[in-house]
Amino acid sequence: QTQTKQQEEIIFRSKLPDIYIPKHLPLHSYCFENISKVASRPCLINGSTGDVYTYGEVEQTARKIASGLNKLGIGQRDVIMLLLPNVPEFVLSFLGASYLGAIATAANPFFTPAETCKQAKASGAKLIITKACYVDKVKDLEEVKIMCIDSPPDGCLHFSELTQADEKDLPHVEILPDDVVALPYSSGTTGLPKGVMLTHKGLVTSVAQQVDGENPNLYFTKEDAILCVLPLFHIYALNSIMLCGLRAGAAILIMQKFEINSLLQLIERYKVTVAPVVPPIVLAIAKSPETEKYDLSSIRILKSGAAPLGKELEDAVRIKLPNAILGQGYGMTEAGPVLAMCLSFAKEPFEIKAGACGTVVRNAEMKIVDPETGASLPTNKPGEICIRGDQIMTGYLNDPEATKSTIDKEGWLHTGDIGYIDDNDELFIVDRLKELIKYKGFQVAPAELEALLLSHSSITDAAVVPMKDDAAGEVPVAFVVKSNDSQITEDEIKQFISKQVVFYKRINRVFFIDAIPKAPSGKILRKELRAKLAADYQN
Ligand code: AMP
Repeated sequence: QTQTKQQEEIIFRSKLPDIYIPKHLPLHSYCFENISKVASRPCLINGSTGDVYTYGEVEQTARKIASGLNKLGIGQRDVIMLLLPNVPEFVLSFLGASYLGAIATAANPFFTPAETCKQAKASGAKLIITKACYVDKVKDLEEVKIMCIDSPPDGCLHFSELTQADEKDLPHVEILPDDVVALPYSSGTTGLPKGVMLTHKGLVTSVAQQVDGENPNLYFTKEDAILCVLPLFHIYALNSIMLCGLRAGAAILIMQKFEINSLLQLIERYKVTVAPVVPPIVLAIAKSPETEKYDLSSIRILKSGAAPLGKELEDAVRIKLPNAILGQGYGMTEAGPVLAMCLSFAKEPFEIKAGACGTVVRNAEMKIVDPETGASLPTNKPGEICIRGDQIMTGYLNDPEATKSTIDKEGWLHTGDIGYIDDNDELFIVDRLKELIKYKGFQVAPAELEALLLSHSSITDAAVVPMKDDAAGEVPVAFVVKSNDSQITEDEIKQFISKQVVFYKRINRVFFIDAIPKAPSGKILRKELRAKLAADYQN
């Protein structure tokens, strides 16, 4: 019966042929495989200072850092946490950890102390590399060393301990393809944020799927200058900008924070050719009057991902960047993260169908399944998007249950996204089955906010769902059941949450309700709440 079932499965693959992927290589060896051709070329450009690190310097410094980490007592498979904005030290530390066979978990430096410590503890981080201004967030953690890339406060180490170590002291480590190298946090389809185990093999495969090959219209080349304004602590930038950029031998222009004027200035100054962005940045480029003042003609590829990009916005930005080919990518942390990318990077931008978020990457399989029956669906029929291939996570750290409900026995990763594939193999995302809320591409896990709401003595039950928002895409809103005699107000609830979470998790609206609709199993009926929101509160 299983055989019949398998025969019936409808599986989608890339239009392009599979490629050879050197999966046996550790991630850093793969990224630097062609370093002899680019050793003296710029690798990292610090947009804030203008400092340039060549490929040779980056590779050597990363090895020194590996040696320094080892000297500090960090061993193979130990976790270090990067609590940093976009700075070259982020990239260098990540690569240093890779050389040592250690694991890097990155956290948003704007996280509150509670959010940061939660991730540090859950990941078992032994060392946190950060800036002096963020030390207070983690200073109470026990048995964790803290290191600063700038002046360290008392009791903290300085980054030079790593960069001044002797690379010759680096012990030989045997890194296996299935060893974990990156541990981003994601809530996946349900529940709280969890550590996503991405291996050397997984990331090598994912990067190869995106950039290996000879088509300069599609892939990065060593002549490219790639903008890195998206946060490196998110896997999209870490993989699709940093690792892909390194593999291609391109220059990576690191911007610490997004501000439209400096972004435009830097694009002009460094003749940026590839700009991977998210919809809010596309919006800023399309709508800002400043755009006219700069020469942006160097941009040949503008890639948007992490959240849906509307057709109107796509059209508006095309007018501003007539030389650029515009395309979307579709990623999910657990998928390594890239599932689909735009293949229509032809010279004629209008060949791209608006709203398409690419076609499945090479060396991978995709299927669309009926969420009720699990049957795989043909073209043009929406269902849950599933992906299989060596690039996906091996699982959630210390959470076999969540792993089992995300990756099935046949190795398919269930994304919780609803989409369909059209007759040209293009993927369109139409809805989200999972709980996740995306604020400007940032993850907001409803379960996390619900737990905080329930910790308030005046709240007996709560559910958090997304509400459409022009600027952010989505914002979290809460349905709250007050305890009997409580007079608690919307503002009080909002403030209670705001104190405990990073800015994008703040609750935008509170709706008081008599009871949260639930299934007999106790599961919140989010779809009902989303429908109620659309009917009662949004016109
Ligand atoms: P993250 O793990 O933070 O990268 O979030 C992954 C989720 O973001 C996906 O499962 C989708 O729900 C959403 N997403 C990513 N890229 C796109 C896209 N191009 N269009 C629509 N949604 C997207």
